[in-house]
Amino acid sequence: MKHSPLRLDLLVIPGLLVLVACGAPQQEERNNPVIDTVAVAPPAPVSARPVHWGYGEEAGPATWGSLSPVYALCGNGQGQSPIALTSGGTSSSPTWRFNYGNTRFAVAHHEHVEDLVDNGHTIQVTVEEGSTLTLNGTNYTLKQFHVHTPSEHTLDGKNLPMEVHMVHQDSAGHFAVVGVLVKEGKANANFAKLVANLPAAKGDTVTVAGEQLDLNMHLPAQEKAYHYVGSLTTPPCSEGVQWLVLQDMITLSKEQIEAFSSRVGPNNRPTQPLNTRTVSTVGLTGSMQ
Ligand SMILES: [Zn+2]
Repeated sequence: MKHSPLRLDLLVIPGLLVLVACGAPQQEERNNPVIDTVAVAPPAPVSARPVHWGYGEEAGPATWGSLSPVYALCGNGQGQSPIALTSGGTSSSPTWRFNYGNTRFAVAHHEHVEDLVDNGHTIQVTVEEGSTLTLNGTNYTLKQFHVHTPSEHTLDGKNLPMEVHMVHQDSAGHFAVVGVLVKEGKANANFAKLVANLPAAKGDTVTVAGEQLDLNMHLPAQEKAYHYVGSLTTPPCSEGVQWLVLQDMITLSKEQIEAFSSRVGPNNRPTQPLNTRTVSTVGLTGSMQ
């Protein structure tokens, strides 16, 4: 694939972020030599760094768009996430495929945004490269996954107790996020490993030695998903994100859900207007049986 000369943060929302977030220094940077790989996001603009945001009344979701010019899309974006989903729909041809495997991992409790890829205010699990999602012929590599309690997407007007976001990027830095809704039920073996390794304090990271996650276990059996184009659900709310929210849910035990919600929750952004977008139902193929 031809590399774009733009920085990652510009690629995510071509055009829009250029208008709202880039002053003269960024324009200069755009004329610099091409960044060959963007597996890791380049440093955020200085103005994006220490802006505090959260989920309470102070600096909560309703204020994100006015906290920093870099966060403007959180307030005025027309293609934002999460959204309210409605069950049902017919499946189109399968053009998505998971190729997930086993991985070593590290667990972090993020207190604030460190760059444009990290999500603040969540438990985030960083995985080894190698697990991929193929979307219409484009390969996206799984970078990390993290949790929201309760869920961010709603289904038929209701929040689920938890939602897992599997965050992927293609070689040009575009995002594809798979949302997995969680309901209360049987304990989940993978998440038991995470609960056992939760950081002691906010800001800490636990690198887990000698343990592996089977990423396929995050995926439910049913191979259908809601698909739409949206945004990151945390500042800077960058748009142009391919979203797949799997129709089938996974289960965690009550105690496992509480292990996360007592640390991070509530950390769900309210649903955003669909505007002119459409939600389609897509079939999935993959190694998740
Ligand atoms: Zn998320």
